[in-house]
Amino acid sequence: MINDFIDYIYPRNIKCILCKNPISKNNSYSLCKDCFNKLNFINKGCLICGKPLTDFYKNDICLNCETNEYVFTKALSCVEYDDNIHKLIYSFKYGAKTYLSYNIAEIMNDKLKYEGIDFDYIIPVPLHKKRLRKRGYNQSLLISKQLSKINKKEVLNIVVRNENTEFLSKLSKKERIKKLENVFTLDKNENRIYKKDVLIVDDIFTTGTTVNEISKILLDSGVNKIYVITFATGKNIY
Ligand SMILES: [Zn+2]
Ligand SMILES: [Zn+2]
Repeated sequence: MINDFIDYIYPRNIKCILCKNPISKNNSYSLCKDCFNKLNFINKGCLICGKPLTDFYKNDICLNCETNEYVFTKALSCVEYDDNIHKLIYSFKYGAKTYLSYNIAEIMNDKLKYEGIDFDYIIPVPLHKKRLRKRGYNQSLLISKQLSKINKKEVLNIVVRNENTEFLSKLSKKERIKKLENVFTLDKNENRIYKKDVLIVDDIFTTGTTVNEISKILLDSGVNKIYVITFATGKNIY
């Protein structure tokens, strides 16, 4: 209901979501031409983790994925993380600009269509209940709901985060894996996802540890394919 309310009170395509300049009604994603051109949409991503591949790569898989084992089928990200995207995501997550979930979902939906990804259910990355109380909303659930309105796939908000793993961004990949072990659970009676293909939704893909840990418990429940879509990701740094 809150989402419908936001749809109603926020008239779309009037101002650019980045620079706030007025835009014409048929601009894509509520962005002015300048801001649209500034975004680095990921056209060539690693076939496994979706991180942008630079010209340095001869094959379709990044160095990280050659040695790293993700259990999900494929992850995709829409844009490269930079200052503009940082501002956008920050105002979405911490500035209560929940209407941005619509624009993010639009961009994600186009990416999924472009890559020919099909799935049965949408599964948002959960927040711990303490953090949810503090923020007032789970940004991944908001995006998932908007995506569901566009592609008519059902959202299953079925993963539970049992620990408040704050400050994850300051940890190394190894430390993250250790910290996130057994943090996520799924209702034992959940049987809708058995042998189905699912799409995990989150805002940012950093090391992929969170979505990989969630993928493990989904596989334990008999899920078939697991796709991941996030709005933004950074380049691998070597
Ligand atoms: Zn703009
Ligand atoms: Zn990769």
